[in-house]
Amino acid sequence: MLNRNDQLDAWDRESFFHPSTHLAQHARGETPTRIVTGGEGVYIVDRDGKKSLDAFGGLYCVNVGYGRPEIAEAIADQAKSLAYYHAYVGHGTEASITLAHMIAERAPDHLNHVYFGLSGSDANETNVKLVWYYNNVLGRPQKKKIISRWRGYHGSSLMTGSLTGLDLFHKAFDLPLAPVLHTEAPYFFRRPDRSMDEESFSQYCADQLEAMIVAEGPDTVAAFIGEPMLGTGGIVPPPAGYWEKIQAVLARHDVLLIADEVVTAFGRLGSMFGSEHYGIKPDIITIAKGLTSAYAPLSGSIVSDKVWAVLEQGTDAMGPIGHGWTYSAHPVCAAAGVANLKLVDSLGLVDNVRDVGGYFRGALADAVGGHRIVGDVRGEGLLAAVEFVADKDDRTFFDPALKVGPQIAAALLKRGVIARAMPQGDILGFAPPLCLSRDEADVVVQATAEAIDEVAKSLQGTS
Ligand code: PLP
Repeated sequence: MLNRNDQLDAWDRESFFHPSTHLAQHARGETPTRIVTGGEGVYIVDRDGKKSLDAFGGLYCVNVGYGRPEIAEAIADQAKSLAYYHAYVGHGTEASITLAHMIAERAPDHLNHVYFGLSGSDANETNVKLVWYYNNVLGRPQKKKIISRWRGYHGSSLMTGSLTGLDLFHKAFDLPLAPVLHTEAPYFFRRPDRSMDEESFSQYCADQLEAMIVAEGPDTVAAFIGEPMLGTGGIVPPPAGYWEKIQAVLARHDVLLIADEVVTAFGRLGSMFGSEHYGIKPDIITIAKGLTSAYAPLSGSIVSDKVWAVLEQGTDAMGPIGHGWTYSAHPVCAAAGVANLKLVDSLGLVDNVRDVGGYFRGALADAVGGHRIVGDVRGEGLLAAVEFVADKDDRTFFDPALKVGPQIAAALLKRGVIARAMPQGDILGFAPPLCLSRDEADVVVQATAEAIDEVAKSLQGTS
């Protein structure tokens, strides 16, 4: 007879298909099964009783922190009174209508219409379909290509995996699909020419984009999609002037702008929206993670008045829009969203990000910025990264086989802090819950400095 823990391990290896996991190693038992049993504030606890400070907020989504009774009770109350009703043909619930209103109130002024999905991926799928629909209604059926950026992350479905600009998501799946193109990432640390300053590198990125649009034919390019600040592709803030110059190009060629704010919306950068933070005026905003702080799966596409007017025109011409999921605007998830956004306000989390985010990034840069294997410390608000290099002057990469990023994340975990080894390059990412305190920030910084030292010493002679 297996004990409960061994039984769960066995079932896990036999039956549970984990996302983003080395399946063969896991099935062979070479990677641990980490079973998380509880969470409170910025901490999670695993089945062995080990407590860790989650400095990546799950997958940068548990923004209000773990164990908030206000959200749990809202979910339970909604499930008890009405677990489900659909939102097709004008149906709604108090929770879904209230949440749409709350989002529109918080979003930039010209964005007032919210379509609800369940994940960031499906919201971006919706966005691409809306952009195509928009151009069909306007009588320009050839204007369909979508440009995203290398290192952008927009999901892993067929279309959004195509939009994502990371090799891991393409090669083995025959992606990207044909209507998707990728342009230069605004990755200042690794710009092609070190003599460029931020403004001139931004101009270079905008010129690359414009050259692509012109080469493809502006009448074939429908939209540009970008995260206000690159997330999964390396946590990279845009260089000065970037969004201003990109938007000028898009305006010249009548190309719509989708701001993917799955990570940045609802406070992560120290503003309610990343668009507001960087002066971006998008046509559509994608939201997910921080909308419910991941207490229930919910995403949204916030549509501008300009796009909305064309969608209305389309339904007058063609009838009801042929797009919807069974679970669009699911009332239990919407109730979680309402309770969550109220908490973001009542806890003053956007202000806390400005205060603790600046403190955390400053302390991190002071503690590790001078280390011989640290090439860059960067970020904004409570989104930060440390990039490791084999040679500080040349910024050369470590041999990927050394797995420097994952090794440092593991050394950090041993010290009771979770950060994320980002999927491409040796980059350690931090995106703690937005309620992080200065004392908790100190814990993360101290553990990070120790973890880097430990791994750097073990690397001596191997790099
Ligand atoms: N867009 C961005 C910016 C993301 O970071 C993510 C996920 O990390 C997604 C979209 C996809 O969201 P999901 O994993 O909920 O499909």
